[in-house]
Amino acid sequence: MTQLIPTKAVCVARNWRGHIRELGNVEPSEPTFFHKPLSAFRPLSEPIHLPHWSSEVHHEVELALRIDQRLCGAGLEQVAQAVGAVALALDLTARDVQNRLKAQGLPWEKAKSFDGSLPLGPWIPITEVGPLEELELRLEVNERLRQQGKLALMIHSPFALVAEASRYFTLEPGDVVLTGTPEGVASLRAGDKLVLTLSGHWRQETRVAHD
Ligand code: ZN
Repeated sequence: MTQLIPTKAVCVARNWRGHIRELGNVEPSEPTFFHKPLSAFRPLSEPIHLPHWSSEVHHEVELALRIDQRLCGAGLEQVAQAVGAVALALDLTARDVQNRLKAQGLPWEKAKSFDGSLPLGPWIPITEVGPLEELELRLEVNERLRQQGKLALMIHSPFALVAEASRYFTLEPGDVVLTGTPEGVASLRAGDKLVLTLSGHWRQETRVAHD
């Protein structure tokens, strides 16, 4: 299959109740979406470079979906046909900057969409992972469990999120949808070693660079 080149990632804020509680946010009546541009994408296996203008870059482990067919105002059945692969991902978030922007009612792009803020992949064909609601995400940092969540506990299922996102943003082949993070977000430090796993079966290591 020819390699699909993404045009964007669409991400969702606040899709797991535990994470909403830990940040003191209110459960939303509809999903809140934001984008990451191509300049945010990095292979998850490469060392993470933290931006120098933030002192509080949080890890958010998330399941990413790859859209293989164009979706615009799609229903759930169409979404199920179009999602071709899943991957482990980090939605890196400059929480100090985000909190400052939120307090002023300003958009979050600087905090969420900076260069390298989306370590991602490799892709796993969706046919290999079984029903998404049975999957579990885990993140260990320096051999300690930081984040863990079953996809069944999401407020909006992954496919429902894709359908909702496609009402507003046409999803092109190769585009990526991130599905939100469970509780346990915390700061990353230089030298941290991260292990991300999907249901214990798919595993990816990465680390934070010293720079
Ligand atoms: Zn996130």
